[in-house]
Amino acid sequence: MAKKPASNVRVQSRFTPIDPPKPVGDSSDGGELNFFEVHLEQLHRAMEANGTVPKVRLVLSEPKNEIIVNFPAMMDSGEYRLFTGYRIQHNNILGPYKGGIRYSEHVTREEVKALSALMTYKCALMQIPFGGAKGGVRCNPRVLSRNEVERITRRFTHDLGSNIGPEYDIPAPDMGTNAQTMVWMMDTYMNGQDITKKNAVRGVVTGKSLTAGGSVGREKATGQGVVFALDEWADENNFSLDGARFTVQGFGNVGSHAARILSKAGGILVGVSDHTGSICDENIDPEELAAYVAANGGVAGYAKAASCTRDDFFGLACDVFIPAALEFQIGAHEAKLLRCRVIVEGANGPTTPAGDVVLESRGITVLPDIFANGGGVVVSYFEWVQNRRSESWDLKEVDTRLRAKIQDAYARMRAKATALAVPNRIAALACALDRLQASYAERGIFP
Ligand code: GLU
Repeated sequence: MAKKPASNVRVQSRFTPIDPPKPVGDSSDGGELNFFEVHLEQLHRAMEANGTVPKVRLVLSEPKNEIIVNFPAMMDSGEYRLFTGYRIQHNNILGPYKGGIRYSEHVTREEVKALSALMTYKCALMQIPFGGAKGGVRCNPRVLSRNEVERITRRFTHDLGSNIGPEYDIPAPDMGTNAQTMVWMMDTYMNGQDITKKNAVRGVVTGKSLTAGGSVGREKATGQGVVFALDEWADENNFSLDGARFTVQGFGNVGSHAARILSKAGGILVGVSDHTGSICDENIDPEELAAYVAANGGVAGYAKAASCTRDDFFGLACDVFIPAALEFQIGAHEAKLLRCRVIVEGANGPTTPAGDVVLESRGITVLPDIFANGGGVVVSYFEWVQNRRSESWDLKEVDTRLRAKIQDAYARMRAKATALAVPNRIAALACALDRLQASYAERGIFP
């Protein structure tokens, strides 16, 4: 009797499965770590320091919902490929689930889980009325055409169905996605509504283009927030950003905007590293480099700066380091190389636990992710409010409100760090836990 083909062989004849994800951390120790487990350890430390009650610890130990969809999308060749998409809804006690959608070949369930949890604490720390969620599709947008990305986005949105909504779960851009991705999501979601309700659901996503109902200042918001965060640290430490030397890892939306804004404030960009390579120079022009990266896909080959190794990049003498790429980039090895005073985490989870230990022992201050990159979701909140009220604020209003949010969060985080004698990362989580715990204390757990 002929042997039956293995089931995956039949699947491959129609859909081409994507390669298994590569380990994410490029750092010495990051490749081995589970992002969600690492997050839980940090959370545990904050809970211990803060005296979080067992009921709240339990609820926050896992996301509330994990939605996984496997969906086909047609490639330009006419072939179909099967993609895996995630939307993990961590917590919604403080408001609708909120968080970005990531397109990357590194996307895994554990990664999205960790990122969804970070959103809960980020929104709680920033005191905006949202919970936390995160989504992702495992794909490499760098090798997909615009049409392929559109088909993937629309099909993913369709398959998420009523798991998202302007009062329920509100996606936004993240790594590998942008305003155009959000417009496709919005349009697909809108077209599934009754025609009389379409315009009432624009707020289903934030980070949209201005023409689709986005907010001015949203595109640069995370980078702007990074600089506002740094400004608070500079004020507290009597440090002038004018003339400060800085390096940036990752030159996408967050890294490039942070670099442009900081250099306008007098900062001097002396090194940039990304997935294509590393460059260093005495004064890199971030505007020019951003144009080069947009045209060439990365910093490699940028003729106006010397190329250097990843280790050389980490060892550059500077005042400020802005990681704005993937998680687990600063392990113990990198933390020993760094010659900066302060790290402003534009990325989510860029430092490994071993990296944190080294940084602490070397007296390098960390402005942690949930504080330092909170500008993105804060302006997402402003966009959502504008959509609800049919208003459109000007840039001055958006930036003024954003700065106030970051100033307020910084003061609370620093007061907590002093009160509990813990690093900023633990203090930021503890501030968020205060707010979540207060809400659970009032409302109890149903039924
Ligand atoms: N993806 C961004 C983050 O990690 C923004 C999320 C949002 O605006 O909802 O914070």
